[in-house]
Amino acid sequence: MSVLSVIVPCYNEEENIRYFYEELWKNTPFFQEKGIEVELLFIDDGSGDHTVEEIKKLRASDPRVHMVSFSRNFGKEAAIYAGFQKAVGDYIVIMDADLQDPPSLLPEMFRYLEEGYDSVATRRVTRKGEPPIRSFFARMFYRLMNRISKTEIVDGARDYRLMKRQVVDAILSMGEYNRFTKGIFGWVGYRTKWMEYENIERRHGETKWNFWKLFLYSLEGITAFSTAPLAIAAVIGIIFCILAFAAILFIIVRTLIWGDPVGGWPSMVCIILLVSGVQLFCLGIVGQYMAKTYLEVKKRPIYLVQEEF
Ligand code: UDP
Ligand code: MG
Repeated sequence: MSVLSVIVPCYNEEENIRYFYEELWKNTPFFQEKGIEVELLFIDDGSGDHTVEEIKKLRASDPRVHMVSFSRNFGKEAAIYAGFQKAVGDYIVIMDADLQDPPSLLPEMFRYLEEGYDSVATRRVTRKGEPPIRSFFARMFYRLMNRISKTEIVDGARDYRLMKRQVVDAILSMGEYNRFTKGIFGWVGYRTKWMEYENIERRHGETKWNFWKLFLYSLEGITAFSTAPLAIAAVIGIIFCILAFAAILFIIVRTLIWGDPVGGWPSMVCIILLVSGVQLFCLGIVGQYMAKTYLEVKKRPIYLVQEEF
């Protein structure tokens, strides 16, 4: 008998847990008919509200409910990783607790696996209900990312994905500390079917992402899946060397022809400011990669468990 594991990362989702649970079971008879057992695995990402209590209430009457709770908030990426490690299923799906990932798509997603795909991913085609400025920057980010990284990162991709065991094992073999999941999915490859759907707004509560968090997250994505900024820093360095060389030649020739009238103090200041600015910028880029390397070599655990059942 095969098993489908449903992984649900939760961070302060007390109002959504029960509702999610009910919605999910409404869509699982399809799997039971096929003889597939469903296990539900909540990953509590250090919630400060009653999320854990809500999950325990469900567990009291339903042994198919499992939970791993973290000792503090480690982020959704860590929750997904923990879910993959703990899930026993032959098929594994990640879903948000806020019902932005509609469980009603599951049967159709599963049919694609039967057709021979290894992984069925979803992307939202509209960004309804999102501030336009955020959509704009999101688009820019995806465009930039796909230009500078060999890993394909799809615009509007959600983490809602149904996968076969093989894909999950591949993802688990990537033990990195900086886990940019969207990139990791692209990096492992496998036959992936993309399904599209309209964005659905959160059932309860607020999104945990503000603009600043998303910005930092995009930097994370860039440093995790591209080294192009390092190359860009080097290219800027070369361009400035060439400019400097041309300027030196110009000054020598000018001095030989017209002598050396002292002057050029303001232009000198501008040049110094510009060049030192560029140097600091490039140093900053190098620093970003160094910081990431530093975090990786420490080999800290990706999450710590508080409680598990
Ligand atoms: N989440 C999490 N840890 C966090 C932030 C979010 O596990 O630090 C969970 C959250 O409970 C939800 C999912 O990740 O189930 C998606 O979060 P959210 O709805 O805030 O993101 P959005 O849908 O706006 O991208
Ligand atoms: Mg959401």
